[in-house]
Amino acid sequence: MIATRMKNLHPYVPGEQPKDRDYIKLNANENPYPPSPAVAKAICQAVQAHPEKLGLYPDPDSNELKEAIATMLNETGGVLCRASVQDGKAAPAREDKIPFTVTPDMIYCGNGSDEVLSFVFYAFFDSDRALVLPEHTYSFYPVYAGFYQIPLDKVPLKNDWTLDREKMLSDANKTNASIIFANPNAPTGLALTRNEIRAMIKSAPKDRIFVVDEAYVDFGGESAIPLLAEFKNLVVVRTFSKSLCGAGQRLGYIVSSPELVNHVTTVKNSLNHFPIDYLAQTAGIAACKDAPYYVECAKKVASERDSFISFLQEHGWFVIDSKTNFVFAKKDGIGGEETYKKIKEAGILVRHFSTPGIEEFLRITIGTGEQMARLCDVMKNL
Ligand SMILES: *Cc1c(COP(=O)(O)O)cnc(C)c1O
Repeated sequence: MIATRMKNLHPYVPGEQPKDRDYIKLNANENPYPPSPAVAKAICQAVQAHPEKLGLYPDPDSNELKEAIATMLNETGGVLCRASVQDGKAAPAREDKIPFTVTPDMIYCGNGSDEVLSFVFYAFFDSDRALVLPEHTYSFYPVYAGFYQIPLDKVPLKNDWTLDREKMLSDANKTNASIIFANPNAPTGLALTRNEIRAMIKSAPKDRIFVVDEAYVDFGGESAIPLLAEFKNLVVVRTFSKSLCGAGQRLGYIVSSPELVNHVTTVKNSLNHFPIDYLAQTAGIAACKDAPYYVECAKKVASERDSFISFLQEHGWFVIDSKTNFVFAKKDGIGGEETYKKIKEAGILVRHFSTPGIEEFLRITIGTGEQMARLCDVMKNL
């Protein structure tokens, strides 16, 4: 009864969303802060003032949302935690300023960056050669590779948990293949600088797409968006789920050349013509118009993260340097799974992966100051 292609599916297992108890949720890298009050207001207004719009199809191309995203990127430089706010307006840090204007035709938006990534896989990766990626990176990439039957070349991380860029490039050049990774990477939290990414793209195959997933860049990485001026084969993937406090809204996007955006749009129009519902578009537009709010949230998260890293180090943990809204840490003599269970018993959920090579680690999402204080109390007594 089941199609043979079903055997290639290896579904992703998301962080738990338990209902049995009110846990502090530090297991799915969600933002602990609610969206800007302007978002709730825009949704209420849309429902109250134009309920008839819920009965109509939404704008299939999310044009107003694309405009709002482009404006926000230009206003913040695409790295919220370093942007500044003055007189209710955000401005990019000098090093983040994008040396051109991002225009709406450089944006494609979809129903969460997971859907956007799926369309990117479909549009740009062929099954005749192995897509190059780090062994430990966002675990949805192998899921899509199975779905679209794209072979993978998983390159092990180096001993210091950084990407083995030399090996990734030499493999990609051997077969003329595409490269994908998250920057900052997940679940390690480590980031490459823009210069390191530039050097990588320069040495990668020119006629193959190079994908950088910037889900976490707003918490302290360097965006690759400025590199779009130099490289026609670069696709930058971003999401509202982490730094824009919008995981429940399911919004993600790519920034690339208009030509590549058109290819992804062709996939969308062949598969899911209206990927973003009216309320999500409304919410996304309102969020982008209140960049200062999200700048403050990102700064708070980054500062909690740095305090938490100091706490862990003082208590004998090994912590990988993080430019994200989570930390990846382990401690000699206590097992990852066992520690995860003890923390769960105390009412706090963190993430443990049983993947070989990283099974001693815990991935802990940065919450509010209050949540982190509770967690520190629990971890002190482990
Ligand atoms: C969370 C995450 C995503 C998915 O984001 P959604 O927009 O919620 O689908 C994509 N890539 C990475 C690396 C992530 O951590």
